[in-house]
Amino acid sequence: MGKGTTYIPVIGLEIHAELNTRTKMFCDCLNDPTEIEPNKNICPVCLAHPGTLPVANKEAIESMIKIGMAVGGETPAVSKFDRKNYFYPDIPKGYQISQYDMPFVFGGTLAGVKLTRVHLEEDTGRLQHVEGGPSSPAARSGRPTSLVDYNRAGVPLMELVTEPDIREVEKIGEFGRELQLVLRYLGVSDADMEKGQMRVEVNLSLGTIVDGELKFGTKVEVKNIASFKMAEAAARYEIERQREVLESGGEISQETRGWDDPNKRTVSQRKKESSHDYRYFPEPDLPVIDLSQFDFSRLKREIPELPQAKRMRLKKEYGLTDDQVELLVFDRPLAEFFEGVISELHEEREAPLEKTVPLAINYLTSDLKGLMVADGKVDVADTRVTAENLADLVELIALDKLTSRTAKDILKTMYETGGDPTEIMKTESLEQVSDEGALREMAQGIIATHPGPVADYKKGKETALMFFVGQAMKELRGKGNPAMLQQIFKDLLT
Ligand code: ADP
Ligand code: MG
Ligand code: ZN
Repeated sequence: MGKGTTYIPVIGLEIHAELNTRTKMFCDCLNDPTEIEPNKNICPVCLAHPGTLPVANKEAIESMIKIGMAVGGETPAVSKFDRKNYFYPDIPKGYQISQYDMPFVFGGTLAGVKLTRVHLEEDTGRLQHVEGGPSSPAARSGRPTSLVDYNRAGVPLMELVTEPDIREVEKIGEFGRELQLVLRYLGVSDADMEKGQMRVEVNLSLGTIVDGELKFGTKVEVKNIASFKMAEAAARYEIERQREVLESGGEISQETRGWDDPNKRTVSQRKKESSHDYRYFPEPDLPVIDLSQFDFSRLKREIPELPQAKRMRLKKEYGLTDDQVELLVFDRPLAEFFEGVISELHEEREAPLEKTVPLAINYLTSDLKGLMVADGKVDVADTRVTAENLADLVELIALDKLTSRTAKDILKTMYETGGDPTEIMKTESLEQVSDEGALREMAQGIIATHPGPVADYKKGKETALMFFVGQAMKELRGKGNPAMLQQIFKDLLT
């Protein structure tokens, strides 16, 4: 190897997500990620005081079964927990209860990436490193101190491991966002990266083609990544770093590195430990779990339509563009609202669906969404606009009773005050003017007062026609029927 060798990035992900169960994984403490008072949700069990015994949280196991169903993985008949030994102050027990060889989920795929497994463990506490604080003697002494908060210790944490199947850096974010969506659709995790509820580790090596086959390189694991953007930046950095090492004849050492975001680089943290360093053994305080006691058919029924199925259905049923589909898949209330509008449009209506459905998606995703963004609103259900009223608006446009200009004004009024578009149209007399006699009279007046453009038009300057339509629209405050006006001016000028 060296200069001229083609290197192929080989990437596998390990993603942790906190489950949003009511209580912690092995005790009755509240699982409350919003608690700001340190060490409020703790008890002798999650602090592993001698003589206490953990009890597995059924809700968390049910969430794992649902995750397994969602990714098409296999859940075995029996499962168990294992003890993973390591010493660090964020772990009050001196070990973490995790799963070693019998996870709740084997295999499956997501976003086209094969999964190895999904297992369940408990989260750690949080350390806060301070220069010197008010409360502890060490801090008062001015020496650097670490404060520890165990509110998060023992919160159920799922870990998903992918096969090293990813070859493109952009796939990292795509995969992560899809997992986030699936977890949210299932309702098992809020998966908010900014709040640390979801955390990504990137494993990356550079592979080479040997005898026509891809041979993986020595991998590096990058931890401490706070967003998908950072995960992709870390992967790009590692590809370059590893390439340089290999091209200069060096070797990659298997290690754990951290992402140093301010400096946009990865830094070596420790040489990789392997599983025997953790001295895994079956957790003696918890029985083996017989999964046949869970009601799989009920759990299956509780799973809603998942993102991928929704994409395909929206596309097929309504002929939406990819961007429109993505918008609806990411914004579930908006999708629900859209389908509400569609079902309203299926009620006795004069305008054909071929016309109203495209209008509905446009008014929803650009105009209504635009008003919401300007107003700082996230959930369409929190606005005054109802599905029925939006369907009415769309129909008025499709039937040529409103111009798109006035429709936007009406939508704004609907957004601000609520109300029915037909009524707003009438009270604000915004109805499109399609009275041929009146329009013709007005057109004659405009022609009489603009001899210059008339001459231009007669000389063949087609754009002069739009000038006349524009003048008429101005007089009608945007309510003139544009197609009709164009025809009238054409007739009068030839
Ligand atoms: P470890 O025991 O070090 O945790 P695993 O075999 O469990 O290693 O894999 C952990 C992650 O690393 C998985 O996501 C896997 O896909 C990925 N991985 C394994 N081998 C490689 C490799 N050679 N290059 C890149 N990623 C890899
Ligand atoms: Mg690992
Ligand atoms: Zn507890």
